Amino acid sequence: MDELKQLLKINKLKATPIRLAILDFIKNSSTPLNELDLRSLLNKSFKNKMTKSTLYREFKTLSQLSLIKELVFKDGIRRYEFGNHHCHHLICSNCSTVTHLVLEKDLEKLEAKIKRNTNFKISFHTLEFYGLCPSCSL
Ligand SMILES: [Zn+2]
Ligand SMILES: [Zn+2]
Repeated sequence: MDELKQLLKINKLKATPIRLAILDFIKNSSTPLNELDLRSLLNKSFKNKMTKSTLYREFKTLSQLSLIKELVFKDGIRRYEFGNHHCHHLICSNCSTVTHLVLEKDLEKLEAKIKRNTNFKISFHTLEFYGLCPSCSL
């Protein structure tokens, strides 16, 4: 928690209990959390004070400062993960579980080749894999 308070301080944001709780849940989750997940987690501590608009405001503030990253996949659900590092995801088409995927060295070589071949100035890329997670493919 102290670490999160420090992070908010650096970004000149007030460390409100709600803000800290949002960051804490997102940080400690092994998968990106969607709005519904977060609301049900937060409602336990904030007794239904967590309105949709409060949450959206927080998400906006936190993602503008790159403290969290908003992810929108083909299912249209907004999910949030901690920080703003570059990574990829595996998305289960059946249960919507999202798994982080860290690709070593990522796609640097391929990207360089694409740049050479197309003269396109690439600023970023996204890569998602859709299919069935281990429990859904049993
Ligand atoms: Zn699944
Ligand atoms: Zn990549």
